[in-house]
Amino acid sequence: MTKFNELNLNPKVLKAIEEAGYESPTPIQEGAIPAALEGRDVLGIAQTGTGKTASFTLPMITLLARGRARARMPRSLVLCPTRELAAQVAENFDTYAKHLKLTKALLIGGVSFKEQDALIDRGVDVLIATPGRLLDHFERGKLLLTGVQIMVVDEADRMLDMGFIPDIERIFSLTPFTRQTLFFSATMAPEIERITDTFLSAPTRVEVARQATASETIEQGVVLFKGGRRDREASAKRKVLRALIDAEGEKCTNAIIFCNRKTDVDICAKSLKKYGYDAAAIHGDLDQSQRMKTLDGFRDGSLRLLVASDVAARGLDVPSVSHVFNFDVPGHPEDYVHRIGRTGRAGRDGKAITICSGRDEKALAAIEKLIQKEIPRLDNPVQSEEPKAKEDAPKPERKAKPTDAKKSETRKSDRKKDKEPKGRGRRDDKGPAVVGMGDHMPSFIALSFDERRAG
Ligand code: AMP
Repeated sequence: MTKFNELNLNPKVLKAIEEAGYESPTPIQEGAIPAALEGRDVLGIAQTGTGKTASFTLPMITLLARGRARARMPRSLVLCPTRELAAQVAENFDTYAKHLKLTKALLIGGVSFKEQDALIDRGVDVLIATPGRLLDHFERGKLLLTGVQIMVVDEADRMLDMGFIPDIERIFSLTPFTRQTLFFSATMAPEIERITDTFLSAPTRVEVARQATASETIEQGVVLFKGGRRDREASAKRKVLRALIDAEGEKCTNAIIFCNRKTDVDICAKSLKKYGYDAAAIHGDLDQSQRMKTLDGFRDGSLRLLVASDVAARGLDVPSVSHVFNFDVPGHPEDYVHRIGRTGRAGRDGKAITICSGRDEKALAAIEKLIQKEIPRLDNPVQSEEPKAKEDAPKPERKAKPTDAKKSETRKSDRKKDKEPKGRGRRDDKGPAVVGMGDHMPSFIALSFDERRAG
């Protein structure tokens, strides 16, 4: 097995790796680091959890340790699809570059332009950005991309889902063609292949095993849920969720609860809170400081239940999550593997329970086909009380009293309309689910015809 110290990394980077407690490189690191250090383009086909972030940050830091930044001309650029991922990459840089004097700036929505401008003016070694925000800065004339020697595109398939590919192509064209490109994607859709054929030059291709199977340490289960009357289904489903959480008792130290839609993320978190659970929501419509606060709370253990959308939780790196609950069956089977992969990390035990209503059974079958295994069926913990479920049903005639938790789960929140995302800054989390496309639709679909023509 290769050791980190055989990879030609800067000794100060090696020291940081040792302090992080890593013993040996992961397969993606073993494949990508030597090629990147030789200055070659890299095409990494790997998902979150494989150590892919370090596979580009470690060689980048080593290469950037030589040379100095110039005002307004970052020397390297990392593009990420979401703010959270960008923030996580920035944390990785801090960890691995802590013994070196490299500067970085983070260009993500929700953080003031002024501070970021000041950093860029001074000159940065590494610029980590979401594509829309980067182009906003560029268009304001505050940034030159002609000094970029290394460019990383992280999670390109997610960029494609979110409609960022035209932005990525534009950014590529603004950087020198002599740049080195490190490009990562979990899957190689034809559109991604087209981009890599166009912008990468004789890349070293490193592919690590596709995560079609979940870790063996994750115990999985699904509750088939017959919702009954449609207007009561959402609230009955939340009751099932609470019963499942209760049934796990103290074994459930913390959990991520996934919903397919942003509105359900909010409703679910609010409802759990009203019932006395320690829960908070995270999705793309919340402001940046709020999202960071929630994530920090979940990471440090002060928040027990994180209710999330797929995009918001993508790449979320919390080493010990005891449970994952799927409030909805995800539309894309790969998302199921991602979701449940938030638990059972690093050889720990984990449990993933999915609630599947009648209309989601097709999606469940697609998941079982992908993971090539049947997910054990669990009893519905509230089935026996189903006739009494009325108590959880919304009472339209009465105003909810905040003191009466059960009654306060009003239908008003169920009726709350999804807001259409507008503009670049909103592309990281699409609102309503799109039938047949899961919740990831190309952004142009969300635009009006006039906007499309204008764009
Ligand atoms: P990533 O795939 O980049 O999201 O990384 C997943 C997790 O693996 C992160 O918590 C990293 O800190 C951790 N990690 C990265 N490289 C190694 C390594 N060589 N040994 C152990 N853990 C690692």
